Amino acid sequence: MSTISRKRKDCIGKDRAEEARARYHMRHIPFNKPSFTGHELHYICKAVLSGKISGDGIYTEKCSRFLEKKFNAPRVLLTNSGTAALELASILIDLKEGDEVIAPSYTFPSTINAFMLRGAKPVFVDIHPDTMNIDVSLVASRITRKTRAIYPVHYAGISCDMGTIQELAKKHDLAVVEDAAQGVNSKYKNEYLGTIGTFGCYSFHETKNVMAGEGGALVINDTRFTARAEIIREKGTDRSKHFRGEVDKYTWQEIGSSYLPSDVLAAFLFAQLEAIDEITRKRKKIYDTYFDSLRFLEKEGKAKLPFVPVDCVPNFHMFYLVLQSENARDELMKDLSTHGITSVFHFIPLHTSPMGRKLGWKDGDLPVTESMSARLLRLPFYNDMLEEEQVYVIEKIRDFFR
Ligand SMILES: *Cc1c(COP(=O)(O)O)cnc(C)c1O
Repeated sequence: MSTISRKRKDCIGKDRAEEARARYHMRHIPFNKPSFTGHELHYICKAVLSGKISGDGIYTEKCSRFLEKKFNAPRVLLTNSGTAALELASILIDLKEGDEVIAPSYTFPSTINAFMLRGAKPVFVDIHPDTMNIDVSLVASRITRKTRAIYPVHYAGISCDMGTIQELAKKHDLAVVEDAAQGVNSKYKNEYLGTIGTFGCYSFHETKNVMAGEGGALVINDTRFTARAEIIREKGTDRSKHFRGEVDKYTWQEIGSSYLPSDVLAAFLFAQLEAIDEITRKRKKIYDTYFDSLRFLEKEGKAKLPFVPVDCVPNFHMFYLVLQSENARDELMKDLSTHGITSVFHFIPLHTSPMGRKLGWKDGDLPVTESMSARLLRLPFYNDMLEEEQVYVIEKIRDFFR
């Protein structure tokens, strides 16, 4: 590492620790705070000095190879966002007007927008209260002649029951697009999330464990899709082939868009990816502390804590409580905020959102989704969360229930 980058690292590290300590004394605990490994600026400099900062430069290559090797993924293409990865997957499976896609309503709009942009219709399925993931026991009854795909969402980085989903998909010849936006570096039965379905979609948004501000990746598990994916990602042209010297000029091949990030962004991301296991370790410690300190709430029937099924190794993306009522959830949130602690609820069920209503869905259609989402509260959680910050949060939660 050069002197400059070492200085920058010290500078970033020191500033941030001091800032965090000051915040603690001011009793201000944010919900999320991006953290840096210290190598980001160094790699960005190197990308700039390489003279080529458009897409698919040296750092894009480094990130893709890193992810392929680490997750044992056949092919990984970096994208601008998790949203872009979902859209790319939806183009690849050739969805058309009138097709149906099975997905949870308890998710981010991007999961659904991606296939609705192709003209497909969402068939929302309720979630299981243990994991907040799609309830696989309800999926079979929603499969019709029009069903083309399932889009499972791995909430909080805890895997859906991929065994059952893959079985159903095989039986009915459906594509599986894993929304693994929150599940980077999580596993299901020794396979990394994103590498199990037809495609996996990762997000490197600032709020995720490993981030680049904005960013994402598409994991291609069926390599028959690779050549077309490269074309769609590059405005519908075979420019990727041209770069590799496989064709002497590049031309328009089919519909596509621009889904590739600048190499400056990839340089930032690479600095984060290199630290992925360290980040997961840090987050496990925070998760375990919350879990051990708050499990009494579950014993006393006051709140439900996250549950990790036996087949899952999570990435500790978040920690949440599910209170007994919406009112109790709102009270706790308000109480914590008077102590300077920001806690937040999460997805508003899509079927009860304005767009969901336009599609004909109404309150009561998915009772578990509605009940759980109204009672869920996410606690402050970031890679560099200080021990004293977490102790303070836990103390205030204990006080509230006393
Ligand atoms: C974050 C997230 C997305 C969107 O990812 P972006 O990178 O912000 O586009 C999609 N689905 C889920 C479940 C997410 O949590």
